[in-house]
Amino acid sequence: MLKKIERFVKEEYVAEVVCNMCGKSVNPEKEEFVHIEKQWGYFSNKDGKTQEADFCEECWDKLCEGFKIEA
Ligand SMILES: [Zn+2]
Repeated sequence: MLKKIERFVKEEYVAEVVCNMCGKSVNPEKEEFVHIEKQWGYFSNKDGKTQEADFCEECWDKLCEGFKIEA
């Protein structure tokens, strides 16, 4: 039962990807997006903290424009 609920929650999450930068809703079945996940460790100031973010293609392009070295 617990497993079923977890799976349902996961499906719900994937079906509703929201871009962290602009707040736009992304349909993962029709649009692509970038997902990043970082678990900070001992050498950071955020030890033990995990951060996740999703970006729509448009915002990812904007982000890349700020890179000194092309992605
Ligand atoms: Zn966006």
